[in-house]
Formats: sequence, C-alpha cells, structure tokens
Amino acid sequence: MASARSARRVRPRAPPRARRTVRPRRLRPPRGRPAAGWRRRRARDGGYGNAIAAPLYFRHSASLGHDTGAHPERPERILALEAALTERDWLGYEVREAPAATDEALLAVHTQSHLDAVREHCEAGVAFDADTPVGAGSLEAALHAAGGACALVDALLGGEAATGFCATRPPGHHAEPGRAMGFCLLSNVAVAARHALAAHGVERVLILDWDVHHGNGTAAAFQAVAEVLYASIHQWPFYPGTGAAADAGAGPGEGYTLNLPVPAGAGEDEWLGVVEHVVVPVARSFAPDLVLVSAGFDAHREDPLADCRLEAVSFAHMARHVHALARELDVPAGAVLEGGYDTGALAASAMATMEALAEGGQPRSVEPGALVAALAESVGRHWTLGA
Ligand SMILES: [Zn+2]
Repeated sequence: MASARSARRVRPRAPPRARRTVRPRRLRPPRGRPAAGWRRRRARDGGYGNAIAAPLYFRHSASLGHDTGAHPERPERILALEAALTERDWLGYEVREAPAATDEALLAVHTQSHLDAVREHCEAGVAFDADTPVGAGSLEAALHAAGGACALVDALLGGEAATGFCATRPPGHHAEPGRAMGFCLLSNVAVAARHALAAHGVERVLILDWDVHHGNGTAAAFQAVAEVLYASIHQWPFYPGTGAAADAGAGPGEGYTLNLPVPAGAGEDEWLGVVEHVVVPVARSFAPDLVLVSAGFDAHREDPLADCRLEAVSFAHMARHVHALARELDVPAGAVLEGGYDTGALAASAMATMEALAEGGQPRSVEPGALVAALAESVGRHWTLGA
C-alpha cells in the first residue's frame, strides 16, 4: 500500500516558476460570520501577544470510550497526560468540554459516504483495517475530537485566548476525506482549518504537523488549496509512505504543501533546524491568520512506533518557535493532539508544549546543517528563505 501511494504522489515537476516573495498582509475585511469580531478584538486588546486570558485546554470524556483493545493508541494516553496535568494545576489552562463537530464542519473536508462508513463501522464494531479498530464508543470520541479542534479555533479566533491545546482521541491526520486509516477516523485538524476559513473568514491557515508520521489525510485535504499551508516534518521513509520532499502540492495549491522528511535517528538538532530555518521563514512569508499544530509526540526517543530521538524539551523548543512566530504575526496558535505512544513521554512532551505555547521563552537556535540545506533547496523552488 505504502509503495503504491508513494508512486502515485511522486511525479515529474513542472518547470520552476517565479518564486513567491514576502507579500504584504492584505487587511481585507473578513468574509464570514463572527466576521470582524476577531480583528476588532485584537485591536482593542492590543493583539494576541498581550492577551491576559488563560490558555484553553479542550477535552472530552468520550475520548476514553474509544476502546481499541491492546493497541498503542489507547485511552491511557489521555489518562497519563491528565494525571500529570492535575498534579500541576493544569499549567494554568482553563479546561473546557470539547463539543461534537457539526455535520457542516465535517462535510467541508469529508465525503458523506465516509461519514456514513464511520458511523456504520463504529456501530458494528468492525475495524477499518488492522491499525484502525473501532467500537461502540468510537463515533462519539471521533466527533468530539474533531469538534474540540473546531472549538479551539472558535475560541482563538473569537479572541478568547492566544493559545490552547486540544487533547482528544482518536488522532486525525491520517484520515483522508474519504478514508479512515492509521488510527484515525476524522481529520481533526483539517476540519478545524476548514472551519476557520469558512466560519471566521480568515484568509490563510498554517498547519505545522510535527507528528513523526506524514499526515497524509491533512495533506490530501489541502493538496490543491492555497489558503492552507501544510508543513509536515516526518521520519522518512516511513508509514504511511506519502510525504516526499518533491510533493509540494498541486494546481492552485502548488507550493503550499511543505514536506520536510527527516531520516530515522534524527534528533533535536535536525528537527529544530528544520523548524527554525525552513518552517519559520516560509510561515513568515505566508503570513497566516492562524497557526495550528498537529502535535504528535511520537518523534520522542522513547516512542515505541518510530525511530527519532527527541526529548520532551525538544517539543518545548519547537513550541517556542511557534509562540514567537505567532507573536510576531500577531495571530493565535493552537495545538491538537495527534500521536505519541509512550504514555510517560507523551505526558511530559505535551506538557512541555503547553507551557511553551502559553509562556513562550527563547527557543534554542541551531546551525543549519546538511539536512536543512537539502530541504531548503527543495522548498526554494517555491519560497524565498532569505539569507
Ligand atoms: Zn504519528
């Protein structure tokens, strides 16, 4: 399956086009409903960077009802994180219930036949594949996972907080518009990004996916879309087989998919180098109105499913880069849980991320190495990375 998917995605490139350069922010009036609210709120409060509201943590008990049996993606992941958070007063985050996603939000990404299939498989307890078991509680879990990501977006773009974290399961970034796979039923972050565009009238959303696996589902949702820049750092070659550096998107979305593969064994220097020297400069040029992080923690060295070498503090440094970028652009930034299968590493890394998103701090700066040079050359077909 993986090789077939790769073969489909890797294709001859069109001749190089003129590079996109830094564009001035266009401050057109927002198109959608709560419309102007979010920009007015920013002006009144002096911007997201000065927000005094508590950061937000979205959860739902349905996340614990998605029974996967003896499977790495299990309820204990959430229990471990929340046990640790309880001991530290939730790091000052305000805890909120994740609502169920609306059909309207889901159908902006998924097909009706996929939503029907998810419902039918969950009701019957029939797994989608060996990786993706479901049971009677899985549909409600999935609906609240996607809905939590949307509620996070609503709160951030409504000016209620500068940052937040959605800790629900199942994860989402492998779920394609018409297909469940890889532990994922609904494409939570893709649904949330679409919701930001449709319901809040924002023009551009950046998704940084630092889960160790390529988010083929999110990528598929935005393959031909210029309003969402999907940047993924992932171990390569690896499951699910997609995410080659040469795949930069298609049609009007060409250049707005940023695949940043790293080799097995890559550690903090490599991952931070890619964030600092590739993701941040491109994001600065893209000038998103909202930053969403697909926050998987399976690049941690203790993770049983992958081979990268990050520590909990490495995720804090990546989150500090996100925090600094969001401050610079004066936009909110939220994170949504994806993978991470060592419960101790997951809890420590998620908490390090939450602290960094809320408090910022100086991210560790690294020298660009050979990996960054190679990726910069690939990304440079569409973006100017600066000096
Ligand atoms: Zn993963």
